Amino acid sequence: MNITAPIHHCGGHHFEPDHLDSTASSLFTPSGVDGVYGRTGEYESVVEALASLIGAHRPGGAEVFRFPPVMPRASLEKQGYLNSFPNLIGAVSTLVGSERDITRSAAKHENGGDWTEDLKPSDLVLAPAACYPVYPIAAARGVVPDDGYVFDVAADCFRHEPSRQVDRFQSFRMREYVRIGTPGQIRSFRDPWVERAKGIADAIGLSYRVDVANDPFFGRVGALMASQQREDALKFELLVPVRSADSPTACMSFNYHKEHFGEVWGLHNAAGDLMHTGCVAFGMDRLAVALFVTHGAKVAGWPASVRAGLNL
Ligand code: AMP
Ligand code: ZN
Repeated sequence: MNITAPIHHCGGHHFEPDHLDSTASSLFTPSGVDGVYGRTGEYESVVEALASLIGAHRPGGAEVFRFPPVMPRASLEKQGYLNSFPNLIGAVSTLVGSERDITRSAAKHENGGDWTEDLKPSDLVLAPAACYPVYPIAAARGVVPDDGYVFDVAADCFRHEPSRQVDRFQSFRMREYVRIGTPGQIRSFRDPWVERAKGIADAIGLSYRVDVANDPFFGRVGALMASQQREDALKFELLVPVRSADSPTACMSFNYHKEHFGEVWGLHNAAGDLMHTGCVAFGMDRLAVALFVTHGAKVAGWPASVRAGLNL
């Protein structure tokens, strides 16, 4: 794997670029497509350990859902994703028609033609975030209870951002805690989570800082949305030095969507107030990579405190 990383410090270790490169190639097997890798058993054991550590902090009363890597295209369209991040979308397309049609399309490949010209968009897209399916689930239940909702969700996510960097994938795992409620309920959910997340990072020996952030909104209008989001402090990230200390990697994010999803899906409480939403997102693969880069390629060599924190 070709990883261009400057020499950097983190977690008290000093990594040469080629060390980082060998860390990555001991964790992943290339697929031939940038940002899509096979993962070793050792790597997966760390992802699972992280999942149970995060699960130990599950908010009381949280409802658990695990979503597939695909979601309805109509949901993505309805919530405005095409305005915000059209560049990141991956959509499922399929061959449709009679047996004859499909046979003819498939045969194009062996005949040196392009079978993909016959693909038709399906009603599915690849899920770009784990929380998107819960808002329509909540909406389908009708009036939101006065205590609001808390969900624990996870999904394999896709974003079309091919890269050879060790911390950026096209296909990656996301875990989230999602809150639906009044603005006050969202704030008193999100703010303590920033502190709790720092505690989790401490427990597993990661260096970090938390900073205000913005989503990579697309285009010229997007740049305005991004600076407004920063100004309103709607997004924070927990940043860990993975490739370098100068451009640390967002491993978790703390998001306040205000009334966006409430408006899109028509979420109201009994008093008729429009519901606000927020989520805490854990980049499971980024957290795992951060651990290996910080503590070394072999879990057996990690500090005892870190292994104890992860129950590994
Ligand atoms: P976001 O919705 O952009 O805040 O994403 C939530 C979390 O998912 C981020 O904090 C990252 O940890 C993780 N994440 C986002 N994009 C990627 C990617 N391309 N590769 C790996 N992890 C990602
Ligand atoms: Zn979310």
